[in-house]
Amino acid sequence: MKSNTYIQLSFYLIINLAGTYAFIPHPLVADVLLSSSSISHAEITQRGIIRSLARFFFDTRLFANDTNATLVNEEAYFNTDYTIDDLYELAHPEYNAFEVTSCSLPLKFIVDSIMTENALVDFKDSTQKVAAAHYDGESFINASRRILQFRGRIINAISNTSQDLSNARDLLGQLLHTLQDFYSHSNWIEMGKTDINELIGFNETIGIVARPDQPTCTNNGCTKIEHSCTLWQKITIGNCPLVYYDCQNNILPEINNQQILTSGYYATDVNENNELLLKPTNVEKCSHGSVRDDSSNIPAIGGINKDSYSLIFSPHANLHKQAADLAVKATEQFVNDLRRDIGDHNFDRLFVINPSGEECHFASASVSQGKRFRLFTPNLSAHVKDNCRFWTKLKISFNKFVRTIKSMWTSALFGVEDINKPTYDFSDKEVDVTNVNNSRAAPYAFGQEKFKLKKHMIHLARKR
Ligand SMILES: [Zn+2]
Repeated sequence: MKSNTYIQLSFYLIINLAGTYAFIPHPLVADVLLSSSSISHAEITQRGIIRSLARFFFDTRLFANDTNATLVNEEAYFNTDYTIDDLYELAHPEYNAFEVTSCSLPLKFIVDSIMTENALVDFKDSTQKVAAAHYDGESFINASRRILQFRGRIINAISNTSQDLSNARDLLGQLLHTLQDFYSHSNWIEMGKTDINELIGFNETIGIVARPDQPTCTNNGCTKIEHSCTLWQKITIGNCPLVYYDCQNNILPEINNQQILTSGYYATDVNENNELLLKPTNVEKCSHGSVRDDSSNIPAIGGINKDSYSLIFSPHANLHKQAADLAVKATEQFVNDLRRDIGDHNFDRLFVINPSGEECHFASASVSQGKRFRLFTPNLSAHVKDNCRFWTKLKISFNKFVRTIKSMWTSALFGVEDINKPTYDFSDKEVDVTNVNNSRAAPYAFGQEKFKLKKHMIHLARKR
């Protein structure tokens, strides 16, 4: 199906091809996403927030409200996948279709802004290389302190009833990035953990951390892979041939067995004083690892990140799904805990869940005038319970079909073609996503939509 997003991106490519060779969106982002369906920070954030919102709607409208109490079966509710539209339809049976669409827009734009700030942690100069923003280089205390401090600032902002909450929302997005990176950058999964670390967000100390002089990784657990680039990789990565590692058992067994936390060093990372945080050479520590991380060639070679399904960027690619699943759960839990601490009224203010008629009108007018989501995907759904039974899966595939029909209908309602497709446009955010030297490979800003572009982009590149 033809879409404006693709056309816009194609133009963008052509323009950049003509002007400069550094034309591709973030190379690591692009390659990972175009070669495998890795789960991005954006998707993790949206799923986690939807799960928390589903709980909010259940507690405040579906369960508590006597007149609606019979409408939902609790077990079925928590096992069913919902989009934000679905939640509004259930919680507000009095809304007509237009009201569902327009009154869910303020919330959707807020979720979109939280997702954007989250993704920008990997792009902005001020945070891209800061180890504590990504739980890199064993900076567990500093990263956890960062989350605590941001959480405190959010609560402070909310307690002031006259304060604009944009900054609090930005902080929430940034903080969730760090929280999510814990699961893909540390050895939490490799320790055998199947649930989230409950201390993050409440304590600076979130477990026993490896001492600076304590080896955590071994040279023997990784296989070096070296091969020439495909045309696509030549365009997006550049440093060919590609050299990266497939690592299975490179974390020292005693570290995992004793539940000692470690995380990978990244060659270009800095501490909060902007001093290089170099991987030690006198003790074998783990690297983040990726074709872009030069520290992965320093013993212990390889790396441990689980940011993607691609070995090119993630030596522990086989654990990506587990890390992403826990990151969704941790996101949901963090937002639930925040709700408990600020109360439902303030939670509603933070997310604008129940907007005024004026706010609904203003949001739909902005959409009619061209305002779009940057990363938010209206059709993405989530359910609260982790276990998904067969009948639920069947229901989900049916729901997906209904959603596609609905999204076409919604677009028609607003008289615009692509309200349901995010723009991925960061041009007003003062970050250069086309910079091929941007080396941060952490979970990715973009969604799977871009996969379809690969063939087209190669075709364009060939014509160069
Ligand atoms: Zn990160």
